[in-house]
Amino acid sequence: MKISLKEAEKFHGHLGPWLVLGLLAGSLALKKLKSKKYFGIEVRVFGADRKPKSCLIDGLQLSSGATYGKGNIKKFKGKKINIVFLKNKQKLTLTLKDIILEKLLQIKSHRESELLAKRLYRMDSNQIFDFKLS
Ligand SMILES: [Zn+2]
Repeated sequence: MKISLKEAEKFHGHLGPWLVLGLLAGSLALKKLKSKKYFGIEVRVFGADRKPKSCLIDGLQLSSGATYGKGNIKKFKGKKINIVFLKNKQKLTLTLKDIILEKLLQIKSHRESELLAKRLYRMDSNQIFDFKLS
């Protein structure tokens, strides 16, 4: 089930586009890998070590159920945002489409950030992420 923006905001403390991107990425990955939530999936996040990009990680924990407490999500340094999901021997890599990165760079205020968060939430994930399954 899709996590609502309210639930996400309650957990994270504020609503922003990176949080929403994490929500969408986790849901998309469970679908593509036909994985259950919480267990059996491992998440590796590259290039999201600073705010606001790191807000992505909270969205990912909520949607994929992989958490720091269980140790099945980890973050790594990286120049580009790259989210890798592992299930058994399958590997799914998600990256953000350039058009989405451009939108994120254009944010100038708190209000714009909330608006983009809401807009992304309603978008089809295939318009946001490029993916590679191997
Ligand atoms: Zn945040």
